[in-house]
Amino acid sequence: MSRRVRLLDPNVVNRIAAGEVVERPASVVKELIENSLDAGATLVQVDVEDCGKRLIRVTDDGCGMDEQDALMALERHATSKIEDAEDLLSISTLGFRGEALPSIASVSRMTLTTRTRTAEGGVQVHIEGGRRSPIKHVATPVGTMVLVEDLFFNTPARLKFLKSDATELAQIVDLIARYAIIYPAVGFFLRHDGQDLLRSPGGTGLLKGIAAVWGRETAEKLVPVDYERHDIRVSGYVSPPHLTRHSRAYQHFFVNHRPVRSKTMSAALAEAFRSLTPERRFPMAVLGLEMDPARVDCNVHPSKSEVKFQREGDVFEAVRGSIRSALLHEGMMPEALSSHPVPTRPGAYRPSRTMVAAAVHAFEPATASAGEQPALIEQPEQRPRFPFSYLLESLRVIGQAMSTFIIAETATGLAIIDQHVAHERIIFERLCGIKGNQPVERQSLLSPETVMLDRRLAVRLEEAIDDLRSVGYDIEPFGGQSFLLRAVPAVLSGKDYRGVLQDILDEIADDSGGRGGYAPRERVWIATACRMAVKAGDPLSHAEMLKLIHDLADTENPYLCPHGRPIVVTIGHDELLRKFKRI
Ligand code: ADP
Ligand code: MG
Repeated sequence: MSRRVRLLDPNVVNRIAAGEVVERPASVVKELIENSLDAGATLVQVDVEDCGKRLIRVTDDGCGMDEQDALMALERHATSKIEDAEDLLSISTLGFRGEALPSIASVSRMTLTTRTRTAEGGVQVHIEGGRRSPIKHVATPVGTMVLVEDLFFNTPARLKFLKSDATELAQIVDLIARYAIIYPAVGFFLRHDGQDLLRSPGGTGLLKGIAAVWGRETAEKLVPVDYERHDIRVSGYVSPPHLTRHSRAYQHFFVNHRPVRSKTMSAALAEAFRSLTPERRFPMAVLGLEMDPARVDCNVHPSKSEVKFQREGDVFEAVRGSIRSALLHEGMMPEALSSHPVPTRPGAYRPSRTMVAAAVHAFEPATASAGEQPALIEQPEQRPRFPFSYLLESLRVIGQAMSTFIIAETATGLAIIDQHVAHERIIFERLCGIKGNQPVERQSLLSPETVMLDRRLAVRLEEAIDDLRSVGYDIEPFGGQSFLLRAVPAVLSGKDYRGVLQDILDEIADDSGGRGGYAPRERVWIATACRMAVKAGDPLSHAEMLKLIHDLADTENPYLCPHGRPIVVTIGHDELLRKFKRI
């Protein structure tokens, strides 16, 4: 059998391309709304029936097409967005490959209705499985409506590969949510089987766009990010470290206004939050990069959702450094710079590049400074350099304010420390063995004491008995709802250790509050640390304050208390001088 080499029928080519571009209903929605956005739409309405399998209709109020363009748009590799290969190096539109419309048309029954601003009427083209019927002149508003019916009707194999209805629909909702967040100026409406699923009004800024999708309460808690580094502007919002989610579904990245997936960006985000959030919890983020389009390649995947950066390292640094600086600026993280203090002024202050560089440098992990001797005073043994060691340089405790805050002078300025959360962090790290498993000191009681509990707490106690032992409570069941207490944490001897035990049990029995995501053991530690720590309002002696700061400087994660509150606020020399108009 002899076969000649020949060019494929265009219809076959389109169907092959459809295999890459049109994977599922959500990919059709994606291509169509990108076209609407490229056409300058301010309103994009998406109607879907049967999770997109029966019908997808995207209507916009963009520039529309005239008759000639409408026909041309359906040809493969027909695009109005780039002209030559040179343009590929600096793409500013969402589309450019000119294959979406013909690909979708080859695997569905598609109707394109469109009208330009200057045209008196509109045109309508219908294509079925790639075969076009004659063009019609119709009355229609300015803009474009693309109707896609019976997707994959002629490629049954594709249909079989679709996931459950719920999954396919969720993909569409998630996709539109992404665009609604990134294009807050544009209104997006999504309806499924006649039911409203998503509404973002448009005409607003990023934060309101986020609020429309994630809710106002969440949006209000977000931390703004806006920095520039390596000629890359990083802007958007991240959640504070105590506001996390159990998956990465709440992380949106975009590059030059194109939503993207980027391993580099998500790794940089994770790195910025490292040691601030519990394990297996993920910060929320909407982060955009603005950079020279010539330094990003959007053309690495047919669906254009992945990008390749020319200098990955720069992008990583810019993203990580910016988030760190933003958290620092918001007081979510203390200033850990010894020679380049970043003033924390309210308002539209933007740190200079050198400051960001210094910030990034200062946050290098402890191991990065191996070989360098930390300048610790009164510390005979060698210890790794923890971020707070700067606190100890020329440390002078000035005193206590409101019996709650310790005020100290350091080499770089003033440090104000919340004594309760600082102590909480110190105890927490000891309990969870971050500093090598130091056994918790316990004090045996002269004679065992019985503890009677109500049923609810008794059940909790039995579950947590090992965890309670790990924090110093030696306790065993004594029949029914009574227990025998043999030893208590040494720090509590002579204090109200029974009350503290009760509080810990109350805390771990309380499932209502924002403790989700912590293992029961961690919750015992957090509750214990909280109850054992000195309180706001406790007067401290000079020696106690000094010891507390030394212990704090030695913690692994001195940025936040286990509940996510800041521990230290610093005022740099520069800021102080500036406040008094001395510089
Ligand atoms: P691409 O977006 O890559 O250019 P498409 O196949 O998605 O390729 O679209 C082809 C062309 O059709 C576009 O370049 C654009 O000129 C035109 N077009 C498609 N959708 C719209 C729309 N909603 N409004 C105006 N023009 C459109
Ligand atoms: Mg397109």
